[in-house]
Amino acid sequence: MRRTVFEPEHESYRQVVREFVNRHLAAQIDRHRREHSIDRQTWRTAGEFGLLGFFVPEDYGGGGATDFRFNAVQGEELSRLSYGYASAFGINTDIVAPYLLELTTEEQKQRWLPAFAAGETIASIAITEPGAGSDVLGIRTTAARDGSGWILNGAKTFITNGSSADLIIVAAKSEKDKASRSISLFVVETAVSPVGRGPSLQKVGQTEVETSELFFDNVYVDAANLLGEPGAGFGYMVERLAQERLSCAIASLGHARAALDETIEYVRQRSAFGQPIGSFQASRFRLAECQTMLDVATAWVDRCIDAHVGGELTPVDAAKAKLAATEVQNKVIDHCLQLHGGYGYMQEYRIAQAWQDARVTRIFGGTSEVMREIIGRSLSLSTQPSQKGVRDAS
Ligand SMILES: Cc1cc2nc3c(=O)[nH]c(=O)nc-3n(C[C@H](O)[C@H](O)[C@H](O)COP(=O)(O)OP(=O)(O)OC[C@H]3O[C@@H](n4cnc5c(N)ncnc54)[C@H](O)[C@@H]3O)c2cc1C
Repeated sequence: MRRTVFEPEHESYRQVVREFVNRHLAAQIDRHRREHSIDRQTWRTAGEFGLLGFFVPEDYGGGGATDFRFNAVQGEELSRLSYGYASAFGINTDIVAPYLLELTTEEQKQRWLPAFAAGETIASIAITEPGAGSDVLGIRTTAARDGSGWILNGAKTFITNGSSADLIIVAAKSEKDKASRSISLFVVETAVSPVGRGPSLQKVGQTEVETSELFFDNVYVDAANLLGEPGAGFGYMVERLAQERLSCAIASLGHARAALDETIEYVRQRSAFGQPIGSFQASRFRLAECQTMLDVATAWVDRCIDAHVGGELTPVDAAKAKLAATEVQNKVIDHCLQLHGGYGYMQEYRIAQAWQDARVTRIFGGTSEVMREIIGRSLSLSTQPSQKGVRDAS
């Protein structure tokens, strides 16, 4: 079925992203994976291609796009090469950008957006802590008033781009009361307010992406770096989670589709018992099932993209998109690995890496269980009050 969600301008932008992927990322992915990091020059090149500022208004040096479909084609194309690139660049474009565009003062926009658009700023968002992931209201990092600024104390973990980030949105409780919803968001500029950083954590997959612990030991942040209103952070985060989830769903499907395309090619070439393995009925049935799961999930996700562009995407529909797309992605890629036989278990094969990269999508950005919890609440069944604060409370 022809996809109808994209217009010619989005397809033109797809070609730009594809050129960046083919000319720059494909040649460097092995090095990025070895070094567990995407180097600064690659970020700058992404900026030169317009990938990191297409949504920033032209007055601040960006491309002026206001349409999430550009984000969508970018996520699809990056994840076709590797989900890790969609994760790393997506933190800037799909997750941090809405905070910087929608919650900032004019002075803050002038200060942050031009470098952001140019690829000079690597961004992170630091919510998760060693003791609080799904349960966002359980965070213990504190922000205490100090003269004209704030003092941050606490620790964050699993922070994407964390080791290199120049700009980190940090969630902290402005009151010590653990039950309080009073979370504030701060934009920590690491050159001005140095933050302790652990080494990049050793992950199962997406090894080209930095994922780090961050430590705040009396870190001073100027009052001018508060994002929006003090104490309103939880609401700000909840409002932006739908886009984060949709973005994850889009990249998950792009990732799985690339794996399926490569596997179809593989089973055409590889023979057993004197015939291509793709000609066995078991292989054809499995690939047919994968193709169907992907096409059906894509239809829902495309519908959600459409709804998001129209300002109508609900948290429940975004949760369905993330749940369905990430579960389909993991099933499809596992079947694809099986069809590669022993070669699928070898690191040098892209399918092995895709299999490792995919596993986390059912965990980050809200786990599959939390997605089911959000969707389940919409069914007017009884809920447990103690679960009202899950990373996703709606
Ligand atoms: C590679 C990676 C990158 C990440 N990047 C970032 C980042 O950039 N910034 C950031 O802030 N965070 C980031 N995270 C953190 C991520 O969002 C959390 O790991 C995720 O929200 C789950 O939290 P947790 O790991 O503490 O698990 P927990 O919350 O401890 O959950 C453990 C298990 O309990 C289940 N569970 C928890 N609550 C419920 C419930 N109410 N109902 C049913 N089951 C439940 C979960 O589904 C899970 O199976 C990242 C994580 C990873 C692995």
